[in-house]
Amino acid sequence: MRIPNNVFDVIVIGGNLAGSSAAISASNKGVNVVLVERNKEPFYPAHCGEAMAEVTTKMYGLDKIDFTKNRISNILLNVGSKEYLLKIKKFSIIIFDRNRVENGLLKRAEKQGVELFIGINMRDFKPPHEIVLDNKKTIKGKVIIDASGISCQVGRRIGMDTKLRKEDIGVCIQSRVKSDFTANTAKSWFHKPYAPLGYAYLFPLNEKLANIGLGVFGGIKLDQSKLLKNYIKDMTGGNYEIISTFKACVPLAPPMSRLIKDNVMIIGDAARLSNPTTGSGIRNALFSGSLAGIIAAKYIPGEIT
Ligand SMILES: Cc1cc2nc3c(=O)[nH]c(=O)nc-3n(C[C@H](O)[C@H](O)[C@H](O)COP(=O)(O)OP(=O)(O)OC[C@H]3O[C@@H](n4cnc5c(N)ncnc54)[C@H](O)[C@@H]3O)c2cc1C
Repeated sequence: MRIPNNVFDVIVIGGNLAGSSAAISASNKGVNVVLVERNKEPFYPAHCGEAMAEVTTKMYGLDKIDFTKNRISNILLNVGSKEYLLKIKKFSIIIFDRNRVENGLLKRAEKQGVELFIGINMRDFKPPHEIVLDNKKTIKGKVIIDASGISCQVGRRIGMDTKLRKEDIGVCIQSRVKSDFTANTAKSWFHKPYAPLGYAYLFPLNEKLANIGLGVFGGIKLDQSKLLKNYIKDMTGGNYEIISTFKACVPLAPPMSRLIKDNVMIIGDAARLSNPTTGSGIRNALFSGSLAGIIAAKYIPGEIT
């Protein structure tokens, strides 16, 4: 599949959901693709609440990957002093093992002939074609797809407006928690006391394990660790064990006005395609990645400009 002098049709920067979807759909159409991902292994546990609509799994062929999922049929919402119980009848939401999906997509890409540079960082981009890697090697691509997440590594090097205002960043903290949970019920708590101007969530993976987190607008000074601890304590009646905790950010800005510049396409969180009201971005990462791959594969043989 590889052609001489490290020249590829398509270079994808970032090997998570958006990047691997782009690599799969481009290679599926017969162009040659390399994917560069700086992490050796996906973050474990995933840096995510791991909630998505079940219908998404079918749309992107995720149902062919073997991963555990917990089906949610109730959502308990707390807004101010009011509590609402939403019963989901038709379109289920699942809490799923994202690491399995991430690995499954990368395996699928590799099987299709995508060259994987895993554990290798993109150090620089010299437009229009050259990517400088951390190991000082240089690769060239006719099309560059930026799937590097919120930092938008390629976009910012070509002068795209990648700056996010503080209030356009969702600052999140999340723990993986052991306790007793009602497996079919997810919980969300809006605003105070746990997440001022944001929301806290409890997404059970099963009866014993849940992702519990909260997200608030950037620029607000808050002790997030303390807020999360209070939320976990109250949701579990004080009977809990924290297995791990991480902090991460999600873009809440409108999408970039331009997602393509010359031979560069921006997808997923890099393009600010997460939902600004909920911070959910899995579906749009998969969708924009798949679409970018198809567009790249049409551009390479000159079918489109
Ligand atoms: C706490 C939290 C909870 C969330 N929960 C949900 C949820 O329940 N449901 C939902 O739908 N969405 C959720 N989201 C949002 C969702 O996780 C993102 O929208 C989604 O991960 C975006 O996928 P992506 O592939 O575009 O970017 P990312 O997942 O950010 O992947 C970018 C990849 O690029 C790599 N990379 C970056 N720079 C370089 C470089 N220089 N060289 C090589 N590789 C590089 C990174 O290592 C990373 O693997 C949550 C987000 C957060 C922060």
